Amino acid sequence: MNLCQFPRRRYTMGITPIEKLECLSAYLGGPNIYIKRDDLLGLAGGGNKTRKLEFLMADAIAQGADTVITCGAIQSNHCRLTLAAANKEGIACQLVLEQRVPNSYERYASGNNFLYDLLGVEEVHVVEGGIDLMAKMESIADNLRARGRKPYVIPGGGSNAIGSMGYVACAQEMLHQFFEMDLNIGAIVCTSGSAGTHAGVLTGIVGNNAQIPVIGISINRKKETQSKMVYELSEKLAKKLNLKEAPALKDVIVFDDYVGEGYSRVTDDMLESVKLLARKEAILLDPVYTGKTMAGMIDLLRNGYFNGMKNILFLHTGGSVALFAYTGAFFGK
Ligand SMILES: *Cc1c(COP(=O)(O)O)cnc(C)c1O
Repeated sequence: MNLCQFPRRRYTMGITPIEKLECLSAYLGGPNIYIKRDDLLGLAGGGNKTRKLEFLMADAIAQGADTVITCGAIQSNHCRLTLAAANKEGIACQLVLEQRVPNSYERYASGNNFLYDLLGVEEVHVVEGGIDLMAKMESIADNLRARGRKPYVIPGGGSNAIGSMGYVACAQEMLHQFFEMDLNIGAIVCTSGSAGTHAGVLTGIVGNNAQIPVIGISINRKKETQSKMVYELSEKLAKKLNLKEAPALKDVIVFDDYVGEGYSRVTDDMLESVKLLARKEAILLDPVYTGKTMAGMIDLLRNGYFNGMKNILFLHTGGSVALFAYTGAFFGK
């Protein structure tokens, strides 16, 4: 797989570490649990969108863009990191924020919200949940074009075939690390949200014929819908990369048992998992994605899903900045 044929910007020095979670593994008493620290990626606060933005921003720059427009939920890590990357590139950034929970947007909220302001967003457009976000972003782009600007629209989560290439690259990076560390990993567990991470890792693993199952924990959609999204994105990626073997639908593993009442809604298991990782490993997870994903991984482990495996890997995709918008839930308020 030759990823060098695609333009790429660099926002992280070197590679992210893989660490053994000694205390957590001993506490849970199953396989050794390793963690890929993509929460330590570059740009303000790090997280998985940094890898996608390396390819997306390179494409925007190649097209002569002077502004990027993207969208997300009101506490969006993706929006924060797109804005951060735009700052590094000296281009403007506008955000469309979707209020999936009615009246939940607060101009002066903490977490990512605060960072939109600190990082100097050009404009925030707050819209009601369920509207066509792509159409909204295109209409903002049209307005900017009419004023002589050159906008570039990035889809939610950066999860198109260009952005998801960042996670094909991550799969290759991990395979190299496993080899160097003499580490035979039985399964990789990651969050499955806008699907770019899950599809990218899976395509990279299948494309390298590595035969490691990639388990996606859904934080929003039902299993069938999510699996289809991951599969379709993997197909696009495989085509772009000219792969002989693309992931099949049966390679897409999704669990939807850990969503709770819905996207970004607090669950007890999420609170427990975030606390557990903080107390056993001093690692900060996040309330919307990695907390629920860790809850899923722990539940699967306790149910014997990983029996017979010596080592498993949790992909930490970042987001801890959002914890500061959820302190009430942790204090039980
Ligand atoms: C966006 C995000 C995810 C989900 O990744 P997708 O590629 O959208 O599936 C997981 N964790 C964090 C912290 C995120 O911000």
